[in-house]
Amino acid sequence: MTRTVYLNGEYLPETEAKVSIFDRAFLMADGVYEVTSVLGGKLIDFEGHLKRLERSLNELEMKKPAAFDDLLEIHRKLVELNGIDEGLIYLQVTRGAPGDRDFAFPDPETTEPTLVLFTQSKPGLADNPTAKKGIKVISIDDIRWGRRDIKTVQLLYPSMGKMMAKKAGADDAWMVEDGFVTEGTSNNAYIVKDGKIITRNLSTDILHGITRAAVLAFAREAQMAVEERPFTIDEVKAADEAFYTSASSFVMPVVEMDGAAIGTGTPGPVAARLREIYLAESLKVAI
Ligand code: PLP
Repeated sequence: MTRTVYLNGEYLPETEAKVSIFDRAFLMADGVYEVTSVLGGKLIDFEGHLKRLERSLNELEMKKPAAFDDLLEIHRKLVELNGIDEGLIYLQVTRGAPGDRDFAFPDPETTEPTLVLFTQSKPGLADNPTAKKGIKVISIDDIRWGRRDIKTVQLLYPSMGKMMAKKAGADDAWMVEDGFVTEGTSNNAYIVKDGKIITRNLSTDILHGITRAAVLAFAREAQMAVEERPFTIDEVKAADEAFYTSASSFVMPVVEMDGAAIGTGTPGPVAARLREIYLAESLKVAI
């Protein structure tokens, strides 16, 4: 089915949406993005994603392409036009297409940002059978840049990490810097030890996950102990459970690290409970 996508004020068939070869994201990876999940035709954690988008734009001195209400309207219209019940909406903002290649940023007065959105239909996203099996991860060096808190489209190394995992017969890679896990290729990483949920503290070293913020708030509300600190691969292997969070996977159990079973080697009760709470509570406030 041909999707209807959004490009700079227009709703177009995906085959007709065209961006300039001089677009800064194409030439310089000069763009930021957000992925919002859709459940029951509604947007999950939308406000959080838009707040983070605004922060990414501010950190990179990029112009905001549209007001919050307009972006909400575009998301809703794409859900409707494409008949999305469960799936994802991808949004990207770039510094625009100044008409030539230059390292210096173009003048924002004369170069408008490029705004692109498209949907991805994913029936069964909430009831994903993988969440009942858990996934396998490997560890790899984190060689990304120093501003991982900005959600940019520089995703080459995370893509390479995914391929390294696939080649090793695993599903994903958790990245390690100075002996400590930073995060997954496209998710925030957690272990559970003696009932305590441990996840790396926020800094410029990791993306400030929107799902992370919601899951930790729900965990604290449910009187679960949470510790925000870096942890090692040895701690992952010795943990009772491990899991990751992201907008597209919610809470996903991790059952193996570098070939070693974590805990019982099956999804643990803390991850299962958090997934259930997150899905139920975030659906209640979905817009
Ligand atoms: N960390 C990285 C590197 C990511 O790319 C992502 C999501 O794409 C996350 C964490 C999870 O963030 P969120 O929960 O906002 O999807």
